[in-house]
Amino acid sequence: MDVYGLVGNPVGHSLSPPMHEAAYEARELDATYVTFEPDVDVIHGALAGAEALGIEGLNVTIPFKQDALEAVEPGELAARIGAVNTIDFTGEGPVGHNTDAAGVTRAFAHHDVRLRGADAVVVGAGGAGRAAAFALRDAGASVHVANRTVDRAEALVADLRDATRDSGAGEDPDGNPDSDVGDDPAVTAGGLDTLSEAVPGADILVNATSVGMESDETPVEPALLHGELAVLDAVYAPLRTRLLRAAAEAGATTIDGAWMLLYQGVEAFEIWTGEKAPVTAMNEALRSRL
Ligand code: NAP
Repeated sequence: MDVYGLVGNPVGHSLSPPMHEAAYEARELDATYVTFEPDVDVIHGALAGAEALGIEGLNVTIPFKQDALEAVEPGELAARIGAVNTIDFTGEGPVGHNTDAAGVTRAFAHHDVRLRGADAVVVGAGGAGRAAAFALRDAGASVHVANRTVDRAEALVADLRDATRDSGAGEDPDGNPDSDVGDDPAVTAGGLDTLSEAVPGADILVNATSVGMESDETPVEPALLHGELAVLDAVYAPLRTRLLRAAAEAGATTIDGAWMLLYQGVEAFEIWTGEKAPVTAMNEALRSRL
């Protein structure tokens, strides 16, 4: 039996086990998905030993994403984002991936939202914010990052600019040789006060803060929302956050955090097994528990 799992602390309430188990059942794979909750001081040993124990793949969550980045060779995207949330034990050494980025782009694709050429605003510059900003920029959107701690938004945008310069992502789609990719004026940063200017003209809004999870609050004033927006809230508990309720009232397209959660899992399944994921079965398993 192939063993996959989740490493984090705590992981007791994770929705990944039922989602991945549903995928194995739908694809008739002889596989299981288990959770591991190591102490912080043994995490490096745990990750190093996992492959020796025959584990095929691991998801990594709080507080170990940084440890995972140090412990395994990150793939190109995970290295640029600076976080690993999925490890593929390939037999030739573990490779670290960041599937939160695909979670964002595939959630938008599922809702037929076009990213190339769109003006996107990402609120938050933590792990989810970094993944969302890189995903949207790589897909050809311009990105404004607004964060409570402005320094963190600026650091993210500096990384985005560097990565764009290195990879050529964000190049003029018409191949205009004069397009100054290095300066990349399409990525900007600011505090939460910049939302009042950025959101009214935006096509896409992502909440990548934890605001809305613990209490019924929104990081973006409802009056700024409008009908041309597609709004993704990374928060998935509750599903109908205050931000998404206000966005729906404004006539915006709303995408709840379970779509991002689903598609990061779909991406991990596909990396690990090389098979197309049974998205419907995984979605049903997830939503029946939310
Ligand atoms: P993180 O690295 O700890 O970052 C937290 C972010 O939230 C930071 O930008 C922080 O701003 C901001 N923040 C926290 N409290 C705030 C407040 N009261 N007002 C304004 N901003 C505040 O966490 P993360 O891993 O990025 O996760 C963020 C959220 O995304 C969580 O709710 C998490 O569950 C969710 N998430 C969902 C998925 C999914 O698949 N749906 C995947 C990953 C994460 P500062 O920098 O100023 O502290």
